[in-house]
Amino acid sequence: MDTQMLIGSRFEAGTETEEHILNPKTGETVLNLPEASLSQIDAAVDAAEKAFASWSQTTPGQRSAYLLKIADAIEKDAEGFATLEALNCGKPINAVLNDEIPAIVDCYRFFAGAVRNLHGPVAGEYLPGHTSMIRRDPIGIVGSIAPWNYPLMMMAWKLAPAIAGGNTVVFKPSEQTPLTALKMAKLLADILPEGVVNLILGRGESVGNALINHPKISMVSITGDVATGKKVLQAAAKTVKRTHLELGGKAPVIVFGDADIDAVVAGIRTFGYYNAGQDCTAACRIYADAKVYDNFVADLTSAVSSIKFNLADDAENEIGPLISKRQRDRVESFVTRAAEHKHMQITTGGKTSGERGFFYAPTVVAGATQDDEIVRREVFGPVVSVTRFTDVEDAVTWANDSDYGLASSIWTKDISRGMQTAARLQYGCTWINTHFMLVNEMPHGGLKQSGYGKDMSVYALEDYTAVRHVMINHG
Ligand code: NAD
Repeated sequence: MDTQMLIGSRFEAGTETEEHILNPKTGETVLNLPEASLSQIDAAVDAAEKAFASWSQTTPGQRSAYLLKIADAIEKDAEGFATLEALNCGKPINAVLNDEIPAIVDCYRFFAGAVRNLHGPVAGEYLPGHTSMIRRDPIGIVGSIAPWNYPLMMMAWKLAPAIAGGNTVVFKPSEQTPLTALKMAKLLADILPEGVVNLILGRGESVGNALINHPKISMVSITGDVATGKKVLQAAAKTVKRTHLELGGKAPVIVFGDADIDAVVAGIRTFGYYNAGQDCTAACRIYADAKVYDNFVADLTSAVSSIKFNLADDAENEIGPLISKRQRDRVESFVTRAAEHKHMQITTGGKTSGERGFFYAPTVVAGATQDDEIVRREVFGPVVSVTRFTDVEDAVTWANDSDYGLASSIWTKDISRGMQTAARLQYGCTWINTHFMLVNEMPHGGLKQSGYGKDMSVYALEDYTAVRHVMINHG
């Protein structure tokens, strides 16, 4: 197992406080990893600064070739990466191997193509005797900070557009899930020039905080909690850094009376509970038309109670445990508080599972109303609430009545109604008759306190490059 940080071309261990890296399926410690010291963080930034001078001058075609090599190398070692990710996150191995790794490989390949196809306004003489043109240039050193729910995928979403755009990076994985990032460091050191990507380990409050406050970092890209995003903004204000914030979500799902209920139930069973609901786009906040509400709740309850988890044969598991005891306790406390209200019913789940590890049974909370905590706050666990509506206007108003604005979905057979409702939702993404599906060609990112800046797509490449105007006076 790779355990060392990457600073320039050097692999070295951190020298500070050790973090226990756990297997969430058992709660056992996999290994202990010390975090970076301030001088190691400085050295990583210095290595990125040194590399920037030449990396920023490479052509898009050259950078594209590097990205394609990275994609090929991950694909070649897919099993190795998937095994490590499954170990560190508790994910079912098949979910990582069949869902995540192909999307991760495709992310590097997408940006390899996209960087060779950037477009802008035509060069021209907008002032007589002067020619103007637009350039898209690298921003500088990007400090990238990832969360624990999809460690390798978040790393791809952050690294691929940043290095495609000609930037260099100091990357910090979540202190809870650094294992695949450490393996990536080895792979990247074999492919990329020294210092283009550097990897440091550590907690948010220490290493993350030093990174976001570092005067030489030009841009901070973070996926995490809203509270963490706000700290990034405060730190960024000191030296006016660019920021790219992918924060939480609380996705509303509007189920119209004419929807194909079997399809909705199958959809929520998958998209509300994938990754044990530790997903900022999880279909977790359902608004169901009163005409179908009772049948829908009954069918959803039965479907969710059939989700397979915590089985000895991992090939059978559909979801894994939560990432930590702390996260499981948090999820449990949301459901306990909901159960204290008479108008809400826990129709399935509502309990921890097993003697070992951090499992929580997939849960449906029916009868929730708009003001309930379970409807308003991000649970980030396998818990879906269902709220009844009789007036469509209420459903749209409630769906938009959230601090978050990342993802949403609408389920109806009437495509005009679907399109009209989609136009009224204040979310970075709205799916019609599906949920959760992402493609590298299309942007992912939020509105409101879900943050701003796009992952994936050419819009991400725009976020990781600066628009510049060059004007020539012909004299
Ligand atoms: P978190 O904010 O606690 O941690 C995220 C990362 O930020 C970690 O690497 C952490 O070490 C670092 N960090 C924490 N405090 C910091 C600080 N003061 N300075 C610098 N870095 C700091 O979030 P988490 O618990 O790892 O992840 C779960 C959260 O992420 C959820 O709220 C979820 O909705 C959100 N998320 C959002 C998206 C998205 O695309 N919008 C995707 C995945 C996760």
